[in-house]
Amino acid sequence: MILDIEMIRSFYASYSDRVAQARAVLKRPLTYAEKVLMAHLFDPAQLRPYKRGEEYVDFRPDRVAMQDATAQMALLQFMNAGKSQVAVPASVHCDHLIRADVGAGRDLAAARETNREVYDFLQSVSRKYGIGFWAPGAGIIHQVVLENYAFPGGMMVGTDSHTPNAGGLGMVAVGVGGADAVDVLTGMPWELKMPRLIGVHLTGRLSGWASSKDVILEILGRLTVKGGTNAILEYFGEGTATISATGKATICNMGAELGATCSLFAYDERADEYLRKTGRTEVAALAARNADELRADGEVYADPATFYDQLVEIDLSQVEPHLNGPFTPDAATPISQMRAKGPASDYPMTVEVGLVGSCTNSSYQDLARAASVARQVVEKGIGMKGQLIINPGSEQIRYTAERDGLLDDFKRVGAIIMTNACGPCIGQWKRHTDDNERKNAIVTSFNRNFRRRADGNPNTYAFIGSPELTTALAIAGRLDFNPATDTLTDSQGRSVMLDEPEGFDFPPRGFAASGHPSPEGIVADLEREGLFVPASTDGRDVEVVIAEGSDRLQRLAPFAPWDGHDLLDMPLLIKVEGKCTTDHISMAGPWLKFRGHLENISDNLLMGAVNAFNGESGSVKDRLDGHYKAVAAAAKHYKQEGLSSIVVAEDNYGEGSSREHAAMEPRFLGVRVILAKSFARIHETNLKKQGMLALTFADKDDYNKVREDDLLSVVGLTEFAPSCPLTVILRHADGTEDRLAATHTYNAAQIEWFKAGSALNSQKQTNKQPNQQPHQQPHQPTDPTSPRTPNPLKGALPSTCSQGCGPL
Ligand code: SF4
Repeated sequence: MILDIEMIRSFYASYSDRVAQARAVLKRPLTYAEKVLMAHLFDPAQLRPYKRGEEYVDFRPDRVAMQDATAQMALLQFMNAGKSQVAVPASVHCDHLIRADVGAGRDLAAARETNREVYDFLQSVSRKYGIGFWAPGAGIIHQVVLENYAFPGGMMVGTDSHTPNAGGLGMVAVGVGGADAVDVLTGMPWELKMPRLIGVHLTGRLSGWASSKDVILEILGRLTVKGGTNAILEYFGEGTATISATGKATICNMGAELGATCSLFAYDERADEYLRKTGRTEVAALAARNADELRADGEVYADPATFYDQLVEIDLSQVEPHLNGPFTPDAATPISQMRAKGPASDYPMTVEVGLVGSCTNSSYQDLARAASVARQVVEKGIGMKGQLIINPGSEQIRYTAERDGLLDDFKRVGAIIMTNACGPCIGQWKRHTDDNERKNAIVTSFNRNFRRRADGNPNTYAFIGSPELTTALAIAGRLDFNPATDTLTDSQGRSVMLDEPEGFDFPPRGFAASGHPSPEGIVADLEREGLFVPASTDGRDVEVVIAEGSDRLQRLAPFAPWDGHDLLDMPLLIKVEGKCTTDHISMAGPWLKFRGHLENISDNLLMGAVNAFNGESGSVKDRLDGHYKAVAAAAKHYKQEGLSSIVVAEDNYGEGSSREHAAMEPRFLGVRVILAKSFARIHETNLKKQGMLALTFADKDDYNKVREDDLLSVVGLTEFAPSCPLTVILRHADGTEDRLAATHTYNAAQIEWFKAGSALNSQKQTNKQPNQQPHQQPHQPTDPTSPRTPNPLKGALPSTCSQGCGPL
């Protein structure tokens, strides 16, 4: 069974033609990334040269993948779109919520119990809307996507940062927030800044202890965590042929740590082999027929400096095993330098735990190479100094590794085999340690190593290495052990060296997922095991399961449409001073469990933002009772009294990860306007999608005119139009007032979103009654916080907009 094969056939039927059109319009040779991007324009009529790193472009991705933590809010929103099925193939993967404690069997059973309501919801909503559902234990989203869904030349979005993993199989795969995923699921255009292109030229061949992980660890050291911002890294050169498809996926996966939009390898024999070995012979044949367009044009490879914005040269034969960290993935140290650097940097030098796994490094090849190192503990009588923990990437990997004895190799050295899930990589690790205060070192094959990320302990120094180096350091128990040069002592007191790791790219007996394989293949076996539920084509009779009274899930009521009046006399909720990221607006940590419950998670609204009037976080004046309280508490009070409120902020409001909660929470609590010096663009769009007004001070100094007890009005909304400023009136407590011009970036469609109450409302209404204006729908709920009294300030307003936009 090949999943979504009809979509893939349809894609390849026109792919080469679309690339040829792009080449004709751009009148030059194309890089591979450009081919994939141009073949996925939402409107092919918009085909033209775009300014990289500057212009925003609408795309039409082929598919969507969602992990269980982020899928909840994305699908709760999708339920309000009025669609009976998703517009493109999509999948949900239950991988983030499983705690790693004592080992796979008991941990998985515990997770099924603890997260039952979330899993029941995700499975039922997936069945209703035609989404493939991967149950807890099936594997980590990106490994499962690579094994089952990724195809060369395709484009996908995923609600997870490491979605670019699929670039190892030639896919433009981008991590996005839930709001973007909903756009794609509902058939709306997905907007992306046209990425810059960084060409990475690989020559030579990896050898010894060096692995594909070390390639990206070295690149991180060179480019840093910001080096890939708004860029696609496109790998090319003869060195690419020496790296397996899963090794390429490892490199693409950690492009996320560079801040890159995504990373990409061209289709080649290794990709062909991977497709065939994972049961997708037809996809391999289709890709082979399009091979010329699944890589850059020859002129690009001959003269890359002309076609890429930046070039990076890597000689694979010079790449050394690396340890990156602690606390940031770009602190790159070749293992040979750790002996000097470790003590000089005051690192704890004893490795207490080595963790092999995560979507970055949990392929069969990864486990095989790590097992070849672990095996030597017994063979050479060495003994383990540290603890080893293994998270296989998928059930397909786990079952095959168990059948082939690899898991026994790990178990013989005392390793714990955890569930096929993220586990410690996302902080779901109940670490068993005797002293949480002790400064300690762990080595992981994961991709992130921020402080507290794995075990929540600020005293843990986490270093990132390849699976084979991680295993070697867990054996040696030392951070500065260089397996290429250093010796260990065996049980007889003799000095011995570890042999270099070895391992097959593919299992010699093929992949399997069941002791009784069916002729339909591995996906069918997983379905039989209850680990996979295929996308249904008709979910009309399926009821979405949301437990009554759940504190983790809550149905979303559509936001009310605009009532047609100006927004008058709104109390100032908070005037934010300084930086205000999406983390400041909607904190993570313990709030993650409420990601499917808008009301509960809204209690963290702007918890991290600093109040400009007292310099404190979490303390704003409630105009109604004069008390200082949490931002959410004040907002709720206003909402209860039928008042809308407004937030004032400084520059780049909403920077950081694209998190729809940061836009939904204020909307839910009655905030109608964010008035800022400037916005982070993605968050500005998210605010617009939720029906909020995102306005900017025409004169940034006007920020200083806003006082704590002000009532603010936004007027001119009946003539709300693109490029036409609005007026904000500050009514001060002393009876005076200031009038400010407020600019905005709403286009005509986004103004309809505002009027309809949200982009989803707008789309739903357009679907149902295409000839009626969305904001004229009589059946919509009204906004309880929207003032309906006559405008007391109307007579005092200027009669025309200063930009000549017409009467206000
Ligand atoms: S394994 Fe880690 S990096 Fe990968 S999806 Fe899970 S939490 Fe994210």
